[in-house]
Amino acid sequence: MNYLSTDNPSLIANFEEAVFKGLPDSKGLFMPVQIPILSSSFFNKLSKLSLAEIGFQVLSPYVGSEINEPTFKDIVAETLSFSIPLKKIHDQIYSLELYHGPTLAFKDVGARFLARIIGHFATLNERKITVLVATSGDTGSAVAHGFYEVPNVDVLILYPKGKVSEFQRKQMTTLGKNIQAIEIDGVFDDCQDLVKKSFLDRKLQDEYNLTSANSINVARFLPQMIYYFWAIAQLKKDYAPTPNLEVNVSVPSGNYGNLTAGLIAKRMGLRINHFIAASNANNSFSKYLETGSYKPQPSISTLSNAMDVGNPSNVRRIDALYDFDSRKMSYDITGASFSDQDCLQTIDQVYEQYNYMLDPHGAIGYKALSMAPKKGINIILETAHPIKFKEVVEAVIPDQVLMPNHIQVNARDENIMSLSNEYSNFKEYLISSR
Ligand SMILES: *Cc1c(COP(=O)(O)O)cnc(C)c1O
Repeated sequence: MNYLSTDNPSLIANFEEAVFKGLPDSKGLFMPVQIPILSSSFFNKLSKLSLAEIGFQVLSPYVGSEINEPTFKDIVAETLSFSIPLKKIHDQIYSLELYHGPTLAFKDVGARFLARIIGHFATLNERKITVLVATSGDTGSAVAHGFYEVPNVDVLILYPKGKVSEFQRKQMTTLGKNIQAIEIDGVFDDCQDLVKKSFLDRKLQDEYNLTSANSINVARFLPQMIYYFWAIAQLKKDYAPTPNLEVNVSVPSGNYGNLTAGLIAKRMGLRINHFIAASNANNSFSKYLETGSYKPQPSISTLSNAMDVGNPSNVRRIDALYDFDSRKMSYDITGASFSDQDCLQTIDQVYEQYNYMLDPHGAIGYKALSMAPKKGINIILETAHPIKFKEVVEAVIPDQVLMPNHIQVNARDENIMSLSNEYSNFKEYLISSR
């Protein structure tokens, strides 16, 4: 499969190039040149396939012959080595729990896939790759775990000192091996600047094969399609003989990668009737759907902080899918925006009525179901485990949030490199550590 830039269709890259470049040489983002429609025999047997089998069938066209079949099957199976249950909250509302991976958020899926793809090409081309990533918390831990022990890839994660939670920090600093955590004396933007400057430093980039693990990488958002197919597959088991089951999906959104993946899944033939783009106070996309003009906003801090994005990158991909026409988007997507107070009330109410614990992001998704078409089944994407937002959740529910058994970050030693926010210091460190 080839990829083109959303703002310049003559900038073409194959899968490997699109992954390693991350961004095209333009202001756009990479999109597949075409979206294949899957066969009716695939959909007929969907509910009998495993998560890994679905993943392989859905993603194969996007990789084509660039990775051989058995290797690609392994990559997909390793990516999806945790469960993604569809839990019934009540009546016709289900929660797709995307938080059973190593860092307890859906970003594990994209990060694990990207890591294995980069590792595969690094080994094939006998190159050693250095991945640089700046993080304010969650992305760094998902990327760190994704790349852990991937051969031929070293990862340097830059985070602002004292500005990530202890849990997030330990998820980055206790792995060791090919993962080096670096605390920067500064804020997130300083970390981002150091990474950007390194990429502009052509000599450095070429000599050390620097690559980013940015969220707009095609290898991070494409695998997110898989769980939409998986949700429908599981639903079919509950509603086996119902041919015209209508399904709406509510997607708690920040940078709109998850929503974009869902929209592409629909184009591939998956029967999802409608999407709800659920946002917090950062509502530039729902305003766009309402008014037809897109105006990026400065981001506003909220309790669902992974969605605090004022200028979501993937709007460019959604534009490309709908010919820049917000009216066409509205046939498939309804936008909705809710306050922190709505979020807290929803956590409280859903726990009290249905004994189901939502995290602040899933709560925005749940609340947004009030905008869903009245008929059909509703699914919310539960994007993070409530333990990641323990303080917020415990402030409104009467019980404690418990850490899942497979997470034991506290036991191991932390290994942290401390640096100032000066580029020259970072560059020196980078060179001396290669
Ligand atoms: C990143 C994130 C989101 C937003 O997802 P996008 O694909 O960027 O829209 C929502 N919830 C959680 C918990 C996240 O970490």
